[in-house]
Amino acid sequence: MQWEVVIGLETHVQLSTRSKIFSGAARHFGDEPNVNACYVDLALPGSLPVLNHSAVEKAIRFGLAIDATVANHSVFDRKNYFYPDLPKGYQISQFELPVVLGGKLTFPVQPKKGDPYVKTVNLTRAHLEEDAGKSIHGLVQGCSGIDLNRAGTPLLEIVTEPEMRSAAEAVGYARALHALVVWLGISDGNMQEGNFRCDANVSVRPVGQKEFGTRCEIKNLNSFRFLQEAIDYEVRRQIELIEDGGKVVQATRLYDPDKGETRQMRTKEDSMDYRYFPDPDLLPLEISDEWIERVRGEMPELPHQLCERLQSEFGLPQYDASMLTASRDIADYYVALAAKVSDRKMAANWVMGEL
Ligand code: ADP
Ligand code: MG
Repeated sequence: MQWEVVIGLETHVQLSTRSKIFSGAARHFGDEPNVNACYVDLALPGSLPVLNHSAVEKAIRFGLAIDATVANHSVFDRKNYFYPDLPKGYQISQFELPVVLGGKLTFPVQPKKGDPYVKTVNLTRAHLEEDAGKSIHGLVQGCSGIDLNRAGTPLLEIVTEPEMRSAAEAVGYARALHALVVWLGISDGNMQEGNFRCDANVSVRPVGQKEFGTRCEIKNLNSFRFLQEAIDYEVRRQIELIEDGGKVVQATRLYDPDKGETRQMRTKEDSMDYRYFPDPDLLPLEISDEWIERVRGEMPELPHQLCERLQSEFGLPQYDASMLTASRDIADYYVALAAKVSDRKMAANWVMGEL
């Protein structure tokens, strides 16, 4: 039997605002535990959230960069669940009416076998939400520590359609998305610090079958290598399971990089379980066309625009152009170099190869 892999990614990007999304506490990594948590982050009774203007502006910037619809009207909802590092007992997120709808991302893919190619993936949505705090295990004997410095940091969760067909495509997408948010100046993109984390939804189906197979979601992959390894392992696991007569159970799984395998964390919860409802402490988010146009006017030249310019003005092939615009540093370097030489294609080869 020939199997086809289906992947959709949900990526949490931490926005590089100065303060948190609903409070004035500093968004700062690496400090002593709980020094950047104010009464709002601690969920003290009577405290009220106030939306961070800059977080919204960064979401608009992202929406414009991927050719999406920036919603004039969106709503913050409460996603209810219990966890020790979630003092309110709910996370403020967006559910039915997200701030960004649709859009697409084009990126180069380097498959394991065969020639590199360019792929475009449609995005479903991107929504604003707050991060939870952190539980720290193993620091104090017999206890877990709670650090709320991260509680309330602004996240943009970016969701794709299930349109990727290999781990290589998922990695290509994640790299391009990472480069884009750094390029736009909306995130530090520091993966060690958890600024950019991917959840990979993975399923398999017999080649030719129309319906999708049952998916598993692998949570919190914070490196491109782990993303690749986790998907490769999960695909093998699902195929072996089905070929041995078993069934994939929809579940949330964790990747263990030391063992190189995924393991089940919980069977999949439905959105119903979260009892989403509009947060009565926050007004709907109204974004005027004037605001959107002002943000549009402040946008830098985007990677895909430069990519097109490298093809039309510089005469580079599409693949070279997309490789050279994979990060802002390399793009700036190449453009500066190309201004000094006569053979721009050779310069491109040199940057992509030797350099
Ligand atoms: P949830 O909100 O429960 O995580 P969604 O339906 O919003 O579920 O989908 C989340 C992600 O899973 C999206 O990126 C979507 O493209 C992807 N996805 C949905 N169905 C499948 C499937 N059968 N195989 C792989 N990915 C899928
Ligand atoms: Mg999900």
